[in-house]
Amino acid sequence: MQRYFASIVDKDVLLSDDDIFHLTKVMRARCNDEIEVVNNHQVFLCEIKSIKPLAIKVKRKINEKRELKCKIILIAALLKGEKMDFVVQKATELGVNEIVFLESERTIIRVNRRDNSNRLDRYKRIAKEAAEQSCRLAVPDVSKVISINELSRIKADIKIIPYELNAGITKTFIDEINKAKEDQTIAVMVGPEGGFAEYEVNIAKCEGFVPVSLGRRILRAETASIYALSVISCLLEKK
Ligand code: SAM
Repeated sequence: MQRYFASIVDKDVLLSDDDIFHLTKVMRARCNDEIEVVNNHQVFLCEIKSIKPLAIKVKRKINEKRELKCKIILIAALLKGEKMDFVVQKATELGVNEIVFLESERTIIRVNRRDNSNRLDRYKRIAKEAAEQSCRLAVPDVSKVISINELSRIKADIKIIPYELNAGITKTFIDEINKAKEDQTIAVMVGPEGGFAEYEVNIAKCEGFVPVSLGRRILRAETASIYALSVISCLLEKK
């Protein structure tokens, strides 16, 4: 069943223009069709009462548990081309709550803080679509770009930095995640194609980030984010 993130006022569903187009023109929805609407982390079963004008009413609440028990922040070094689109999409499916884009020494692309709106708008669209597809109850926030010197802005209870020079056994990674308690925040910071400079890892350590290994192989940056988030969600949902 189609799912949308939308506002609800007195049982009336208020879809965005893009979602109205998708529902009426792409999905060719008809009267009495049902859709799921997520509002404020809660899912509702809704029914189309009329198409012209479009009127959608809430029928009932649906009780669903989809979100991880901890808040997950991925600090992802900006990657070239569509790799970042891929990371935003997969990180959303894996339960991330916020993606903060990192401009590090070796990131190949730079985001002009003034004109980054096009790039961030695209990431917001990807995150929303991935959240709808994966039946999330929240769309990850993908609005921030930071440099390594702004790491103190990241507030988290557990902070890890997968560092390629630590490639080996994964015990520390797993031990750190297993420390997390319900409703705590976990931040994971992944480097760019060229990896982290040693001074960047030292800055991260000073901010409380624990260097960890993602195994014995050197993963591509996009693979590393997906691997780390997969392990985190698996460990958090093991019972
Ligand atoms: N240029 C680096 C090299 O050749 O050694 C590789 C950097 S890797 C492509 C990009 C990022 O993925 C790294 O900065 C790190 O955050 C993460 N990463 C990849 N493999 C890892 C591993 N086995 N252990 C820890 N982190 C890893």
